[in-house]
Amino acid sequence: MSQVSERIAALSPSETLAMSQKSNELKEQGIDVINLSVGEPDFFTPDFIKEAAKKAVDENFSFYAPVPGYLSLRKAIVAKLKRENKLDYKPEQIVCSNGAKQSVCNVLLAVVGPGDEVIVPAPYWVSYVEMVKLAEGTNVIVTAGIEQDFKITPAQLEAAITPRTKALILCSPSNPTGSVYSKEELKGLADVLAKYPNIIIIADEIYEHINYVGQHESIARFENIRERVVIVNGVSKAYAMTGWRLGWIAAPQWIASACNKLQGQYTSSPSNIAQKAAEAAYLGSQDCIETMRQAFERRRNLMVKLASDIPGLKVNQPNGAFYLFPDCSAYIGKSFNGKVLANSADLAMYLLEEGHVAAVGGLAFGAPNCVRFSYATADEKLVEAMSRVKKALAVLE
Ligand code: PMP
Ligand code: GLU
Repeated sequence: MSQVSERIAALSPSETLAMSQKSNELKEQGIDVINLSVGEPDFFTPDFIKEAAKKAVDENFSFYAPVPGYLSLRKAIVAKLKRENKLDYKPEQIVCSNGAKQSVCNVLLAVVGPGDEVIVPAPYWVSYVEMVKLAEGTNVIVTAGIEQDFKITPAQLEAAITPRTKALILCSPSNPTGSVYSKEELKGLADVLAKYPNIIIIADEIYEHINYVGQHESIARFENIRERVVIVNGVSKAYAMTGWRLGWIAAPQWIASACNKLQGQYTSSPSNIAQKAAEAAYLGSQDCIETMRQAFERRRNLMVKLASDIPGLKVNQPNGAFYLFPDCSAYIGKSFNGKVLANSADLAMYLLEEGHVAAVGGLAFGAPNCVRFSYATADEKLVEAMSRVKKALAVLE
């Protein structure tokens, strides 16, 4: 008999990781699946970063590091924030963790308790709502559909605020929609938040560099809310380092200290070798970022064109990240061999089993009519994948 805690019983498994796992299982059976499910760059980590890691091994960086990460790494992050974001932080305000995933979870566990509400704009990244549940908080979902480019308005935000609101999680550029809030749109949200001094703003900026409209805008730039913003970022996406597991926060001191305390009892610092690799990434040439960004932009254009060519799909123009999130309402409720595809999870499973394309149903992202395609893969594979999707959708009745 399973005796897992209520906490874990109530938790949903990560749908992004689950679909990727299923895709790998089919591949192991010899089926030629194209995996557009999990979101990670298909590039190798740049050589100068790998060299720094090898050097760290040889130089015996093998002892416990300070819980929030080496001071040298935190200084490199402070310099990055100054150089790229024009923001001033002290190294004590930086806490490095095992990926931005842990960073978000640390912050939520540090500030949210039973009865606290967290505003989560939908479509949202799968893990936010589960992490809020872990922290025993209540998710307050504010939905923005494709007709508003999946971005919430200041009026929607204000309508969701109550005396129990503890935090807002904002992700721009967004996973899963690729939408990017403009500076004016961020200002609109900041002006609302300025009226509610107790709300913490968690700004997930992990896709900062994968932006097709120009300079990244951080909500932390607005003076009227700055002391309540926690920036979450990391090396996974910018430097093709998903498996190195290195993310970080730049936070008000009290939140950084709380995360430090939590992490000190839970995981300690992230791996020293990953830390030294990340330090090299921030201090070295940034050319690799632009090379990858250009490849993603070309693929974005390709994906928008291919998906727009499929009858019934509603497609937006994603201005960042590497996801396309078409609205597939026209196909939901249709059937294959008498089996009804009742929602986007069924549709994604159908595309995997019959079309051999792995994508993720929007249900897990709070968007039951959409499907997420990650286009961080070779152009030829994208062409083949969308041709399979088109054929598979055409035979639904
Ligand atoms: N935030 C968002 C929006 C993501 O898509 C991801 C997944 N890569 C993360 C955070 C976590 O990234 P990591 O843990 O690899 O740094
Ligand atoms: N964040 C990526 C995604 O959404 C990686 C998987 C995960 O961490 O959930 O696909």
